[in-house]
Amino acid sequence: MPDCAACGSTDLAPHLRVRGDAGEDGLIPTTKEFGTALGDIVRCADCGHMQLDALPSDEELAGAYTEAASDDYVDEEAGQRESFRSVLERVERYAPGRRAILDVGCWVGFLLDEACARGWRETTGVEPSLFASGYARAELGLDVRTEKLRDAELPERHYDAVVLGDVLEHLTDAGAALDRVAGLLAPGGVLALELPDAGSRVARLLGSRWWSVIPTHVHYFTRASAATMLRRHGYTPLYVATDPKAFTVRYYLDKIGGYSTALSGALIAGARRAGVDQRMWTPDFRDRMVVIARAPVAAA
Ligand SMILES: [Zn+2]
Repeated sequence: MPDCAACGSTDLAPHLRVRGDAGEDGLIPTTKEFGTALGDIVRCADCGHMQLDALPSDEELAGAYTEAASDDYVDEEAGQRESFRSVLERVERYAPGRRAILDVGCWVGFLLDEACARGWRETTGVEPSLFASGYARAELGLDVRTEKLRDAELPERHYDAVVLGDVLEHLTDAGAALDRVAGLLAPGGVLALELPDAGSRVARLLGSRWWSVIPTHVHYFTRASAATMLRRHGYTPLYVATDPKAFTVRYYLDKIGGYSTALSGALIAGARRAGVDQRMWTPDFRDRMVVIARAPVAAA
């Protein structure tokens, strides 16, 4: 079994039995297969971090991200943009300037487009999905490369801010990603992580039925384990808070289909009859977090 990705401990104990098949649609990142993972979840006795007992190879996961396509995130544009403005507002409190920002796993580019509007002078994205990176270039005119962070050619010591939104929990070698980003950040630059919070009350109550237990999630961070991992890679954690996402009522009700398609369908029909299905809703389940950390000081 691999060591704890957050603290390096070898003291990992069984936590949740969730090993299962990826389902007939394969490993699509937006899967509704709640409660299923590629392995069982183990928990670190030293720092509380949770991860799969066997980590899938990057190659096993790569195909899923290259082929990923979803109209959900385009339909839900207004809510996505509102959520990203909130993230950027917090990043800007700590970033040394609004010069260059890199969004790793930027999907269709709404965060970068909002950053442009807020005065960031250079906005760059890296996104393996052919659909999403193509959308970012064609529809929004953004500099988004169809690549993975590991392979992307990017300038060293350059970015005031690097954002990994819902990315780190998917990476088998999350530590290598943190090290790569450390080299890309300008002196004093900041890393912003958006992560599901596996230490939240909702996550602990729902256990294996928590909606973030899905086949493409390899790591399950808590606030403490995220901070532990960042420090181990030389970062200084500065800020952590909940990160509610704004979506339409319909989107959330549709997600209930991961538990019961009949219930989901009935609720959506009810919401449509009541005329509230397209209303924006930002329920804060307090099970998502934003973590901002200062870049490691580079060795001279
Ligand atoms: Zn640990």
